[in-house]
Amino acid sequence: MRLYVEGHGCSMAQAETGAIKGHALASGFHLSEAKDADFLVINTCAVKEKTEFKMLRRIRALSKIASENNSRLIVFGCLPKVNPSIIDEVAPGVIMVGPDLEGLSRALGIKEERFSPLVPQVRPNANVEIMPIASGCTNFCTFCGTKLARGNIRSHSPAQLRARLESSLRDTREFWLTGQDTGAYGLDNGSSLPELLSELLSVEGEFRVRIGMMNPHHLRRIYTELVPLFRDRRLYRFLHIPVQAGSDRVLSLMRRGYTSTQFIALVSRLREDVPGITIATDIIVGFPSETEKEFGETMALIREVEPDVVNISRFGARLGTKAAAMEGQLPGSVLKERSRKLTSLCREISMRQNARMMGKTEIAFFSEVGPKGNFVGRTSNYKPIVVGENLLGKFAEVEVLAAFPTYLHGTVAASRHAHGNKDTGAVSADGFPDGQGTAGSRSCPGPAPTLPLNMRSTRMAPLFVP
Ligand code: SF4
Repeated sequence: MRLYVEGHGCSMAQAETGAIKGHALASGFHLSEAKDADFLVINTCAVKEKTEFKMLRRIRALSKIASENNSRLIVFGCLPKVNPSIIDEVAPGVIMVGPDLEGLSRALGIKEERFSPLVPQVRPNANVEIMPIASGCTNFCTFCGTKLARGNIRSHSPAQLRARLESSLRDTREFWLTGQDTGAYGLDNGSSLPELLSELLSVEGEFRVRIGMMNPHHLRRIYTELVPLFRDRRLYRFLHIPVQAGSDRVLSLMRRGYTSTQFIALVSRLREDVPGITIATDIIVGFPSETEKEFGETMALIREVEPDVVNISRFGARLGTKAAAMEGQLPGSVLKERSRKLTSLCREISMRQNARMMGKTEIAFFSEVGPKGNFVGRTSNYKPIVVGENLLGKFAEVEVLAAFPTYLHGTVAASRHAHGNKDTGAVSADGFPDGQGTAGSRSCPGPAPTLPLNMRSTRMAPLFVP
């Protein structure tokens, strides 16, 4: 049997698309082009209205291919949970399955399997292992359609996740821990994110771990146990903590569970305790009834916190959410104007932050090819740095030559594919731990220099290249 799989959405959805392919291959399917397939699966995202329109265009196109070739289309993922009727409008009678592998296994007629760290995965990027640590969350944010699709938190066990990391170390060195809210990890199985990280960082070897998005109120809860773990240089000094708005009235309408003062205090404490940490956040502009003055509070918060990365969204009502029914829905022109103002402020801040990296030397792990054929690595604080040399899958010492709002440009000081120093992450010229080789001494041993950073996005990190 032949299967065509197309994936869209967040890091978690990318990993699940990879697991669908892995499980299908292990169950005897062959992957093929859409026109040659017996089954076509599209893994959909429903996070925003704009995304929904894109999904519907793809579903319509694939439905046409399926009917022309007498094959079956399965619409999988978040959209069947958030807005099934609209799918039925564009592709009547299509098979719909929520984001669960058992349901899809039944539809494909193969052995039922749950998404877990034990399911084989075809990686979207061979150099990065995306590890969903949990699905769902503990919040009920009033604007969020994802909650309708993913429900409450279900965490995978630390033992399974450790086994996954150890087995993947054979051929990759970068691990993304992802979920709807990594801060809520373990609330359902008696574990916690700091406990999981300690388990993973107890594995010997040179690799990097990136922590995915978490709700600020969970970060406040696990702060004391989490922050000391950043001393291990294999943990990227990076946190993605969506604040969403600067007005406390709007934050309470969103049911976010913290105030702007608490968020500002959290970030300044983080910057003190983890020098050079990268702070990424998200903002929704134009939440129902948000006044011009309250939008001003968002701008003020951004000026005060100076986040390195800001993902800006215009509010869009998601079917079935409380916010969709709220009074005071704002016109598109207001959303557009607020997003324009905020974008230019954030770009200014990112450029200022990045310029502070100039002349610094970092150890970076290279995992991506840039849009213009150069190569993209991530510094110890997960800052994207572009070089011309093909160093995919390797660590290299790079010097920062130029800074742009969303990335750095660098030159390779020394390249390695070797084990490094667990504490400094440094890799010496001859591959021995820090201080035994020539280059090691230049790669930031001890406390990190203050290196505020910026990246385009943490979810999937496409980069600009000049
Ligand atoms: S924390 Fe809020 S925004 Fe995030 S997935 Fe849960 S309900 Fe949605």
